Amino acid sequence: MNIVAVLVNALKMKCPRCRKGDLFESPTLGFNSDSFKMPDKCPVCGQSYMPEPGFYYGSMFLSYIMTGLFCIVFMALVHWVIGLTLMVSFMILIAILALGSPFIWRMSRSLWLNMMEKYDPDWDK
Ligand SMILES: [Zn+2]
Repeated sequence: MNIVAVLVNALKMKCPRCRKGDLFESPTLGFNSDSFKMPDKCPVCGQSYMPEPGFYYGSMFLSYIMTGLFCIVFMALVHWVIGLTLMVSFMILIAILALGSPFIWRMSRSLWLNMMEKYDPDWDK
């Protein structure tokens, strides 16, 4: 398994099997009412995006880890490197997390699915 290729594919939010089909119905940064909608299966290769009930339970842990790491790095940079007060740093952090939560939700699902399903270059044969 090529970890870099899996991470890049997860960032692109593409199907893990064919790496061509979109995981979500709306563009990555185009948030609207369809931001949380996923098709049942890949429109290109037919890979199921819900392999089993409760499949995305594990993505919650990824979301927690990604958010926690981001908060630590952000606070270290903004408070200690740039020198903003703790209150201002937290307010900026809360605003970024509120606006970025759809992206984190989608990214954790994409990463989880790409970690659990393998890339198949011969999916069409
Ligand atoms: Zn696919």
